[in-house]
Amino acid sequence: MEELYRIYAGVLGLLIGSFLNVVIHRLPRNTDMVVSRSACPKCSAPIPWWLNIPLVSWIYLRGKCKNCSAPISWRYPAVELAMGLIMFLAFPQLLSPELLFRWIFISAISGALICHFFIDLEHKILPDSINIYLLCLILPYEIMFNSPMHWLAGGAFGFLGPLAVSWGFYKWKGKVGLGGGDIKLWGVLGVYLGPFGIMENIFFSCFLGSIVGIILILAKRYDREGGIPFGPFIIVVSFVQLFNPGLLSSLGINIF
Ligand SMILES: [Zn+2]
Repeated sequence: MEELYRIYAGVLGLLIGSFLNVVIHRLPRNTDMVVSRSACPKCSAPIPWWLNIPLVSWIYLRGKCKNCSAPISWRYPAVELAMGLIMFLAFPQLLSPELLFRWIFISAISGALICHFFIDLEHKILPDSINIYLLCLILPYEIMFNSPMHWLAGGAFGFLGPLAVSWGFYKWKGKVGLGGGDIKLWGVLGVYLGPFGIMENIFFSCFLGSIVGIILILAKRYDREGGIPFGPFIIVVSFVQLFNPGLLSSLGINIF
């Protein structure tokens, strides 16, 4: 019976993923989220519900608009699949109110982080509205279940640490190194991860970012003007911390 619920949970995740795609497309463009109907961004042909089924429709259409054959980004099925998998895998083994509540909480955070990831990748911004949404989820949860030493110190460290480094860099080089969105995201994640968790995140996301940056420079694909969006690295590391809390510290790099 639990396995059946788990499959429902995965299907629910696919549907929520479909909604996240709407957020990812419309939030940075300031179009309304709910009222306007789905349409092809290229030819504006309306998309009927039977061509808007998560995952299935994209595969059926082979990633092309039925009307104008414009390619439909791989992002659509990827977001649906990611959200479906997260809600499927995170579904609790035992059905207790506490574990179900935790599952909803983790799913709600994951959805917001997926939006952040793809919006930053395309537009190089981490919208304030998503950071505020995350804070509204995380802060009450942490106040209920954790000590101020965890959430207050984590949030303060995650926000003020990178802010100080960024300010120092600005004084030294006269240009902005880190985006304000990155700093705010670290602050919000710090409330959840606590001071040690957020230090771990800052360390590993900078490490990951440097590796990818070097690879892009070697491949001559590094954008020297705009740089690379940093949010995706923070988010990848935070997903590892969210779902496998002990993994990073067990890598043998016991930095703290
Ligand atoms: Zn079209």
